[in-house]
Amino acid sequence: MSSYDLIVIGAGPGGYVCAIRAAQLGQKVAVVEGRGTLGGTCLNVGCIPSKALLHASHMYHEAGHNFEKMGLMGELPEIDWNVMQGYKAETVETNTKGIEFLFKKNKIDWIKGWGVIEAPGKVKVGDTVYDTKNIVIATGSEPSPLKGVEVDNDGGTIVDSTGALVLAKIPETMVVIGAGVIGLELGSVYARLGTKVTVIEYLDAITPGMDAEIQKQLQRTLAKQGLDFVLGAAVQSASVKDGKATVTYKLRKDDSEHQIQADVVLLATGRRPFLNGLGLEGAGVALTDRGQVAIDDHWRTNVPGIYAIGDAVAGPMLAHKAEDEGMAAAEVIAGKAGHVNYNVIPGVIYTIPEVASVGLTEAAAKESGRKVKVGKFPFMGNARAKAMFQGDGFVKMIADAETDRVLGCHIIGPNAGEMIHEVCVAMEFGASAEDIAMTCHAHPTTSEAVREAALALGGGAIHV
Ligand SMILES: Cc1cc2nc3c(=O)[nH]c(=O)nc-3n(C[C@H](O)[C@H](O)[C@H](O)COP(=O)(O)OP(=O)(O)OC[C@H]3O[C@@H](n4cnc5c(N)ncnc54)[C@H](O)[C@@H]3O)c2cc1C
Repeated sequence: MSSYDLIVIGAGPGGYVCAIRAAQLGQKVAVVEGRGTLGGTCLNVGCIPSKALLHASHMYHEAGHNFEKMGLMGELPEIDWNVMQGYKAETVETNTKGIEFLFKKNKIDWIKGWGVIEAPGKVKVGDTVYDTKNIVIATGSEPSPLKGVEVDNDGGTIVDSTGALVLAKIPETMVVIGAGVIGLELGSVYARLGTKVTVIEYLDAITPGMDAEIQKQLQRTLAKQGLDFVLGAAVQSASVKDGKATVTYKLRKDDSEHQIQADVVLLATGRRPFLNGLGLEGAGVALTDRGQVAIDDHWRTNVPGIYAIGDAVAGPMLAHKAEDEGMAAAEVIAGKAGHVNYNVIPGVIYTIPEVASVGLTEAAAKESGRKVKVGKFPFMGNARAKAMFQGDGFVKMIADAETDRVLGCHIIGPNAGEMIHEVCVAMEFGASAEDIAMTCHAHPTTSEAVREAALALGGGAIHV
């Protein structure tokens, strides 16, 4: 039996990053992972496979919609779904193997199997109990269920995101339940490949929690791309007959009941922490009333020597948030000062146009009682965006009206997911909008739109 300084349970972006940082800090580390490959939800059935399909379907969409405009003439390529699935699988494999390489490089043991916390300092995997000074719970999340909608990924008709990534064929029709990030991304993939996609959302707007103007613009643009939206609708049930699904929903405004049929139904109403079989009750680890592992601001649970990070705890369910917590928890365990700035965690939706957001929305900034100013710049004024046929969209920057300090930024447009980091760095340094506005930006880049939004908060944008 080996004994470790740290055993991390779960090898997702939270767990594997935590393990690597702990090993770099001189700790003897093992990671318990029950899945056959490392990388967790993110690399296996989340961020990475979805982005591979988004990339491939975007290329196809470009070929069908914009190639001829640029003088690239000829037949639209045919879709070979099996090859596209193979490309996605290869992308996943190179990434999961990459984590295996990093484990070897950092002398981290991968204990294969499902871990149970027997007691503080004791993790059981199969018949073996491993001793360790500290334990980090990084067991991630699973799709949330919805009453009346039974997911059967093997059947392939009513699926969750995991099933939607491996459909046997491209469906003619699809209903997506839930207009959050996962539903819109996977809905976009299939819409671009020719599926008639209808998104049903309980709330009256898509992407709950995002800036209201961004919500409206994204819905408009996705509708132009062929996605239908039914908002303010509560799904009652979904049933399957002869391989076709029927979804029943009620409109909240008048309680009227409606039905819609589809070849595939994707349930995408959110995710919940995955803590099954982990032995938390026996070990005395407390949960929040939302079923997350309860932690303090140093990722410590109520049981000394047991920590928790990532989707298993409160906060946005994002890979980079899990990574940051993983690094910080490893540092705290090693006696250093781990820190995560929860005010500066970007969120990205990888549709076309991309959406990226950090910090406060305009509404939240106003609710906080500050005097707020808003600078906006449309991508129609950005030469690079127009050359890419992506002039729809804008950058919206929020700053404190008295101090000019940047409080948030919301971008809908090309490369939004990359551009947001300039604002993240600015916010980490407590920058003013003027700091961004006075920074020289290369031309022609889409990032110039960020500078223009910052200029709009002061002396005025140039290209409007
Ligand atoms: C379709 C989809 C797309 C997404 N796209 C993005 C995106 O673009 N960007 C982004 O930031 N986030 C995205 N996410 C969310 C992201 O995947 C998660 O936030 C992230 O994976 C959480 O990391 P984690 O380390 O907390 O847990 P996970 O990645 O869920 O990893 C947990 C691991 O723990 C293992 N495990 C659980 N219990 C045990 C046990 N008892 N013993 C051993 N092993 C165990 C599991 O097998 C799993 O491998 C997406 C999610 C989905 C589903």
